[in-house]
Amino acid sequence: MNKVIILLSLKRLSLLNLCLGVDIIILVSACLLGINCKYDGSNNWRPHLLKTLEKIPLLPVCPEKLGGLPIPRCPCEIAGGQGSDVIEGIAKVINKEGKDVTGNFLLGAERSLKLAKKHHVSAVLLKNRSPSCGSDYIYDGSFKSCLMPGAGVTAALLKANGIMVFNEDDFQRTGGMYL
Ligand code: SF4
Repeated sequence: MNKVIILLSLKRLSLLNLCLGVDIIILVSACLLGINCKYDGSNNWRPHLLKTLEKIPLLPVCPEKLGGLPIPRCPCEIAGGQGSDVIEGIAKVINKEGKDVTGNFLLGAERSLKLAKKHHVSAVLLKNRSPSCGSDYIYDGSFKSCLMPGAGVTAALLKANGIMVFNEDDFQRTGGMYL
């Protein structure tokens, strides 16, 4: 489905939530909400997202923290594929020191999916380009800031389970409609 349509749907969901009291919840990458869970201990605060979704209950989730990784932590990238390949066991997630952290990423993805199901989330808003949360683009495993099309491990698992995933860039692409 076209992502703009998804976003328009979200706006309608927001209205439904307001007018009818329909139970709606959106799972969001915790770092986008200003929580300091990024690898370097900072965040990816996007105030316009909160403004847009202010009437909707948000469920902040950090898959890498849920997977047992510390804050701060060594940056990680997917080597040899993308998130779906990690799930299938044909690619790995490694940190910049060369340590295999695939198990942490898979655990974080499974726990995020469990939370999404438990809270019956209506949609998921994830931080693009992350090896966990990226939904359109991720880094290519070279640790040289090279992007490639693909999804991170959590985004891939959520998509594979039929959950609508979009990212902060989708908001920008709507021409500021939600800014
Ligand atoms: S795993 Fe996701 S929520 Fe956690 S810091 Fe990375 S992008 Fe943000």
